[in-house]
Amino acid sequence: MANLQGANVNRGMNNAEQEVAVVGGSAAGFFTAYLLARASCRVRVLERAEELDPTPRTLIVTSRMRDLLGAAGECSVVNEIRRFELFTDGRAATVRLERPDLIIERASLIRGLALQAQQAGARVELGRRFVSLESNGGGFSLTVEGSRDGSREQLPADTVVGADGAISKVAQSAGWPKQQTVPLIQAIVRLRSECAPDVVRVWFVPEDTPYFYWLIPHSPTHGALGLIGEDGPQTRRCLETFLEKRCFTPLAFQGARIPVYTGWVPAKRQVGTGQVYLVGDAAGQVKVTTVGGIVTGLRGALGVAQAILNDGHSRELRALRRELDLHLLIRRTLHRFQQADYSRLVDLLNDSARRSLSVYSRDEVARVLWHVCVRQPRLLLLGLRGILAKGSLSPRERG
Ligand SMILES: Cc1cc2nc3c(=O)[nH]c(=O)nc-3n(C[C@H](O)[C@H](O)[C@H](O)COP(=O)(O)OP(=O)(O)OC[C@H]3O[C@@H](n4cnc5c(N)ncnc54)[C@H](O)[C@@H]3O)c2cc1C
Repeated sequence: MANLQGANVNRGMNNAEQEVAVVGGSAAGFFTAYLLARASCRVRVLERAEELDPTPRTLIVTSRMRDLLGAAGECSVVNEIRRFELFTDGRAATVRLERPDLIIERASLIRGLALQAQQAGARVELGRRFVSLESNGGGFSLTVEGSRDGSREQLPADTVVGADGAISKVAQSAGWPKQQTVPLIQAIVRLRSECAPDVVRVWFVPEDTPYFYWLIPHSPTHGALGLIGEDGPQTRRCLETFLEKRCFTPLAFQGARIPVYTGWVPAKRQVGTGQVYLVGDAAGQVKVTTVGGIVTGLRGALGVAQAILNDGHSRELRALRRELDLHLLIRRTLHRFQQADYSRLVDLLNDSARRSLSVYSRDEVARVLWHVCVRQPRLLLLGLRGILAKGSLSPRERG
């Protein structure tokens, strides 16, 4: 469960005097609000949606989510994954997981986190769209618009946290540069008889995408089959062709643009005498290997809460930065992989390398890299070849 060591002062204020405005009522925003309210800050969450009715999405996360959220996340868990099957060009490899990955329903997760934040004392204000912020000497004046009637009002805040997603208005108002994004799209499908409900399937098809296709079962009968691409319409066409070739009928589509991590985005900015923080997708806290943002966004929330309570210092943010940078290093390698490289990768996943992948999760990437390379050094050479193939970031990677 998340721990905020030594929560105390910010700019000479005690926590109970601090008014924090969190913009965005979703996973990262509600978790930040909960951590700050629990430490006695006065917290309000401003969410533009008029009702707490988030778009449903089937997501996969590592069991690290359980360590971070404890009971609050359990209501969202709909399935557990014991095995990954990797496919490329007629080859296959299986990786068993020592700790299961979790399939979660995003809407239930957000509702659970909202309730937890409210129980800790945070005020959740729905139908309030953040427009802009201005420094007013001691803190900020926020311009907020009623989503229904467009009426505007000014709200005071000592500290502002932008948890308002990939296209963050808070980031824009406080002067952070715009983030790059990629399209992610998945179809809800009925599982075929050979698809076990505790197995995730991953296909590497480099001519379609430098990322991959996945099928994640969220019940014994249904799952989400999707891919990350670089161009929206092209990604949708690839998915439709892939579904047709493998005889899956799409029952519904889920999709949005996700930020691409191209380097650490400083989570804090001084604006006048006040401080603005970003968290979750707004800060690009997304693992760029798999474009998963739930666990890293929750870690970002923990880090930002630590920083607000400890005068800018956060061990969690430093650790998160190291982790995201390692994912970037791996992504740079994978982005240059051709079909032959994927074939070799799957062939090289020998028993001991697979054991490392099964013991350590995607949220412990430094340990995975170390153990996999010790056990299968040729994987390291393959990776180095990928890194050295061209410059560091291709135009394709930049999206
Ligand atoms: C189809 C799909 C599948 C995915 N699969 C996975 C997966 O399997 N695993 C994984 O880890 N990640 C996955 N992701 C990524 C993951 O969903 C995101 O990283 C995560 O949800 C980001 O959470 P967040 O709280 O930072 O932002 P968001 O969930 O984007 O929330 C932002 C909130 O801010 C509000 N808001 C925006 N602007 C304003 C404003 N001006 N005023 C007030 N409120 C505002 C929005 O209404 C929203 O509630 C997937 C994403 C998609 C689209």
